[in-house]
Amino acid sequence: MNAINHVNETRIASPVVHRPLSYVSPDSAWSIYLSQVERVLPYLGSLAKWAETLCRPKRALIVDVPIEMDDGTVRHFEGYRVQHNLSRGPGKGGVRFHPDVTLEEVMALSAWMTIKCAGVGLPYGGAKGGIRVDPKQLSRKELEKLTRRYTSEIGIIIGPQRDIPAPDVNTNGEIMAWMMDTYSMNTGSTATGVVTGKPIHLGGSLGRVKATGRGVFVTGREAARRIGLDIEGARVAVQGFGNVGSVAAELFAQSGAKLVAVQDHSGTLVNGKGFDVPRLIAHVQRAGGIAGFADGEPADNESFWDVPCEILIPAALEGQLTAARARRTKAKLILEGANGPTLPEADDVLNDRGVLLVPDVICNAGGVTVSYFEWVQDFNSFFWGEDEINVRLDKIMVDALSAIWETAERHRITLRTATFAVACERILMARQERGLYP
Ligand code: GLU
Repeated sequence: MNAINHVNETRIASPVVHRPLSYVSPDSAWSIYLSQVERVLPYLGSLAKWAETLCRPKRALIVDVPIEMDDGTVRHFEGYRVQHNLSRGPGKGGVRFHPDVTLEEVMALSAWMTIKCAGVGLPYGGAKGGIRVDPKQLSRKELEKLTRRYTSEIGIIIGPQRDIPAPDVNTNGEIMAWMMDTYSMNTGSTATGVVTGKPIHLGGSLGRVKATGRGVFVTGREAARRIGLDIEGARVAVQGFGNVGSVAAELFAQSGAKLVAVQDHSGTLVNGKGFDVPRLIAHVQRAGGIAGFADGEPADNESFWDVPCEILIPAALEGQLTAARARRTKAKLILEGANGPTLPEADDVLNDRGVLLVPDVICNAGGVTVSYFEWVQDFNSFFWGEDEINVRLDKIMVDALSAIWETAERHRITLRTATFAVACERILMARQERGLYP
């Protein structure tokens, strides 16, 4: 067993938050984030005195987004943009369109962006946005109106030097183009650097679309090497076959691994011999989901967690890996492609069982890293080739994981707590050096 597969972290009893926020409930994603912060406190030394700043978003904007529907009626949607922390630079983070989005979820996602950006050393704070909507129920015209009105409403706090949105669940390059255009029309000049993940001809970056999945693969490859797990022949199970899960699966398959189970909103498929990943991707592009792909056996959704595999990649939504599922998984290595897929009790089960987990805040940081490249290219109006993007991405991810691994071994803590330790030290050092205003 590797030194950091099974560790004994110090737990502290005293809560870091003196007065809990009036607007959060105890069982939200935000409370999962808070428990992750509490775990890192013993490893922050004297900087721990600033930690409460991490337990409150700096700024949270709730906006009403009314649009006229195609049938002439007017509907109102709830929108959010949360800037969790801006100590190290402008806010950075995606915008998700999902019917279950809540303020507390967006707060947690914004906080994870703070940790993620600091963990890989990007000069950003953390932010996130969302609209409580099922975009599949809207026409293209309605979606455009929704995006433009939302962008206008949050326009008072975003900007190339203030807060830079990007794609997340159910948002894409087309939506980023509408956001860029709306912001630019409102400010009177074309501001390509206000969002990332744009189409290439509008100042987007080569390699951005696949960057998150590529980052999952790179951190997975490095973690596997360090624990002596051979990727050649390894069996991989992927939950969520969108932009992150499908690209990670494709890169693992190209390195000789076998995709043996896949689950998305349309169902679960298993194939012990290994799926033909490019064909599965082509099917999903046509059919909108994995269901109906001929070359795999449909299975019960819950059985996904029992599938024999070496590598498990949760790349869907939060809260999927519960303690019960963590007890059942056969995987030796878990790569968090999604944000917040693992509950804290499941983290403990995995640690006790010696299963290595590479946490979201480093594992899926490839997306925001290439967003950073895009933002830099936009400022310089000078664009890099795809090879250069991928080489730089690989190096940033490998170096970041290596610093986090070293921290984990030094303190005998999990990779999640180690990522929080590296990130929080940078954030709170910036906080301390900037001083408390006024
Ligand atoms: N939505 C992505 C994430 O959760 C990317 C954010 C960005 O590029 O700013 O990391």
